Amino acid sequence: MSPRVAPLIEIFSSIQGEGIWLGCRQIFLRFAGCNLTCSYCDTPRDIPPHCRWEVRPGQREFMLLPNPMTPHEVASKVRELNPVIHHSISLTGGEPLLHTSFLLELIPLLKGTRRGVYLETNGTLPDSLAQLLPFVDIIAMDIKLPGTANILPCWQEHRAFLKLASTKHLFVKLVVSEESKQEEIEMALELICSVGDIPLVIQPVTTPDGKPRLNPQKAITWQSRALERLSDVRIIPQTHKFLGYL
Ligand code: SF4
Repeated sequence: MSPRVAPLIEIFSSIQGEGIWLGCRQIFLRFAGCNLTCSYCDTPRDIPPHCRWEVRPGQREFMLLPNPMTPHEVASKVRELNPVIHHSISLTGGEPLLHTSFLLELIPLLKGTRRGVYLETNGTLPDSLAQLLPFVDIIAMDIKLPGTANILPCWQEHRAFLKLASTKHLFVKLVVSEESKQEEIEMALELICSVGDIPLVIQPVTTPDGKPRLNPQKAITWQSRALERLSDVRIIPQTHKFLGYL
């Protein structure tokens, strides 16, 4: 039987730039490939021939490693980034849940951080999450607004995913822009409230140089609406872009 392998874009140490764990130091494993095609996506769609691995944590010196990689190769590179100083290991992408079999082998090898495994996901693959749930500690889940991402609706997938994910430390992220439709934001709120009082982050689409593409008045109005139904609703852009972190 061939060993499980996965293509990665990069392995590096930086701060979390989004969501309620903003600023925490993490080791990022950025997986290649995604099942969606969001219009605002800033991750390359092609599978790269090499994974960039940061040789020393946070120093931005990279070495190229051939793709795809085995779980033991990835775990060994993570160990060299000094997990003990890190809050958690972020599984990000792309969509990391496309590599569930690989992750089932990899995660038990990832030890030493303070809070374990942090999954960043588009929230559309509930069957994959069900397999990985016992091994994940924190989940940052997107609910995709179809009109903003310019994709087909994923409400059913999101509902099934949210129910499973709510058994973990979870927050939901809504990426919004000037084009976002009020009725889709209401549908997302309805969905979240049907599962529980889950922390929500409203994240304005952010340009590559770190400028939010959303009128602040619009964002605060949507936050007011969400705060009528949820107790923790924050407006947080992608901060790593303007802070200059990876
Ligand atoms: S889910 Fe994330 S990685 Fe996938 S296309 Fe959308 S923004 Fe890009």
